Amino acid sequence: MPLDTTTREWLTDTFADDVRFEEPMSQHTSFRVGGPAEALVRPKGKGDLVRLVQWATEHGIGYMPLGAGSNILVRQKGIRGIVIMLDSCLASIVENKTPSDGPCITAGAGVKLAGLCTFALKQGLEGLNFALGIPGTVGGSIRVNAGTPDGCMGDVVVSVNLLMPEGSLRSVEKTELVFSYRKMDWPSDTAFEPGCEPIILEAALRLKPADRHGLKKEAEQIMQQRKNHQPWTAKSAGCIFKNPAGERSAGQLIDMAGLKGKRIGDAEVSTLHANFIINKGRATADDVLNLVDLVRSTVFQRYQIELETEVRIVG
Ligand SMILES: Cc1cc2nc3c(=O)[nH]c(=O)nc-3n(C[C@H](O)[C@H](O)[C@H](O)COP(=O)(O)OP(=O)(O)OC[C@H]3O[C@@H](n4cnc5c(N)ncnc54)[C@H](O)[C@@H]3O)c2cc1C
Repeated sequence: MPLDTTTREWLTDTFADDVRFEEPMSQHTSFRVGGPAEALVRPKGKGDLVRLVQWATEHGIGYMPLGAGSNILVRQKGIRGIVIMLDSCLASIVENKTPSDGPCITAGAGVKLAGLCTFALKQGLEGLNFALGIPGTVGGSIRVNAGTPDGCMGDVVVSVNLLMPEGSLRSVEKTELVFSYRKMDWPSDTAFEPGCEPIILEAALRLKPADRHGLKKEAEQIMQQRKNHQPWTAKSAGCIFKNPAGERSAGQLIDMAGLKGKRIGDAEVSTLHANFIINKGRATADDVLNLVDLVRSTVFQRYQIELETEVRIVG
């Protein structure tokens, strides 16, 4: 059901300039494609966020948290309900100075991984270098268990604080969450429909003391690798497919199928890294989705391997 007048009025009265209606998601995703969100709200702090989620749940309105929008592909028809952008709140990083079992950082969900990695490097704390160059936020990255072959968010998370759909707060230990390849599942005693899931507010991350100079050197190498092997500054959402089981990565399969440079509209399979689809300028979500289908069916025909998208398709 479209947002009714009462909802629109409540949002406008409560969030004033921090709410926009029919807001193009192409403005808020790294792919730069996608239709409008019925409403997009940028809460200023935790209080506003709790109020919004509580209100939405009470009124049966779906909501979707958004971090940096770097792992989603929004369909052309857009997103029903409320998109809650967290990149301008929940942005603090605090180091626990008296840890009983090693250094620990508490980071808000809206903190960008780039800022978190820089903080850890400055403090001489090891464990986050794998996240260098991943353009996400702490909340989004934990939700999708972002990572590389060198590590993932699930390796460093100790606990998370959640905002539950009805507005209560819950602290959850890592042992209650299930981290797997590019996936995090909520505690097994809970079940949520899309549109009314918990929101990660902050996370405690366990790191290790290390030599600052060595860490910095490693960081430079990791960033250089990324820049050499990925279209890092292009409009994309990173790797489009998960790596399938077996010897070959998704990128290798797509490359072997001769699909590098394949184009539909302005969506193109990157010539640098075959598992990236990039928006060359004016691509639409349909261009990207059609290219995803083409790549998937070609790889299946050639190798009988079904590729699964890593990017979350929403709307
Ligand atoms: C150039 C480039 C390189 C990339 N490299 C990598 C890489 O090496 N490894 C990798 O894993 N990914 C990579 N990515 C993909 C992406 O950056 C990561 O997955 C990132 O962690 C997503 O974080 P985000 O804040 O952008 O999440 P979003 O895209 O905003 O959201 C992702 C999902 O998390 C949910 N979500 C967001 N915030 C919260 C919250 N606070 N609580 C609950 N749910 C939430 C959203 O609803 C959505 O379902 C890359 C992307 C690009 C563009």
